[in-house]
Amino acid sequence: MKYNPLINERVAKNEAFNFIHPYQPAKSMQGVLKIMYELEKDLCEISGMDCFSLQQAAGAHGEFTGLLIIAKYFKSIKQKRTKIIVPDTAHGTNPASAAFAGFGIVSLKSESDGSILPEKLKEFLTPDIAAVMLTIPNTLGAFEKNISEISRIVHENGSLLYYDGANLNAIMGIVRPGDMGFDVMHINLHKTFSTPHGGGGPGSGPVGVKEFLEPFLPVPKIESSKSKFVLNYKKPKSIGKLKAFFGNLPVILKAYAYIKSLGAEGLKNASEWAVLNANYMLARFKDKIDVPAGSRCMHEFVLSPKSLFKNNVRTLDVARDFWITAIMLQPYISR
Ligand SMILES: *Cc1c(COP(=O)(O)O)cnc(C)c1O
Repeated sequence: MKYNPLINERVAKNEAFNFIHPYQPAKSMQGVLKIMYELEKDLCEISGMDCFSLQQAAGAHGEFTGLLIIAKYFKSIKQKRTKIIVPDTAHGTNPASAAFAGFGIVSLKSESDGSILPEKLKEFLTPDIAAVMLTIPNTLGAFEKNISEISRIVHENGSLLYYDGANLNAIMGIVRPGDMGFDVMHINLHKTFSTPHGGGGPGSGPVGVKEFLEPFLPVPKIESSKSKFVLNYKKPKSIGKLKAFFGNLPVILKAYAYIKSLGAEGLKNASEWAVLNANYMLARFKDKIDVPAGSRCMHEFVLSPKSLFKNNVRTLDVARDFWITAIMLQPYISR
């Protein structure tokens, strides 16, 4: 449900970018460093976070980075927090990334629309919880209406709040994770800012943090001094390097071109259109196929093809691709 203008592919294919060698000295690639520096600033503005790193190759890589930052932060303040709370509606990469970063997982059962009840969450908030990972809007397409209260009780417990920003295309220009109280997040550039998504890549999962976590971000950090851009590797508290060189540059360039060409109002419109389009699709489907999480959604919704089982249609027949789904279901829908 997102717009991938062809012009941005042309920008990313431009020779001026394609023939840069990553071992070139920083002073010979000031232009591209400036673009990355500005993109970091734009992502801060869009998300309400204070600093970004563009190095991560995909959303899951961003989660892993964010969780390493959380681990290192608690180590630095000498607190032993070993577990991450993940709601059962989360993308499978959330618990996998947390386990990969060395945490134990506490699975939290969500309500029928995928939302979290603060009273329920409170019972799981013990002193060993490092963070709670939330996806807003969640995979069932619902906004977490209790987020202010959730943020309050999570921080009261001394834990941090992680925002899985894969679904940012539903809220950009309208609300900001940083203002909702999140401390760490990733954004899937390939799901929100140009770059066709699907088919397995390429991706980019920049990680944003609040100021107090800035020292832990990966190196190198692109810094600006006296209108020159430099790569700073000297950050003693950094979690280190996460990927060769600077990240997936073509995806970064497409995101930059998309943000600069749409501007603030355009980005807000893009979210409104994403939500409107998803609701249009939902309205077309909802009388024909079971929609477990209700009759309105944000950027996406989940269909259950259970009612089609009698026609010998199985979930896997329709699961992979929405358009294939729509085509395959056509004969059943028009009955
Ligand atoms: C897609 C997605 C991810 C993982 O992102 P990748 O770029 O595929 O690694 C994480 N969380 C949610 C909610 C997603 O939709």
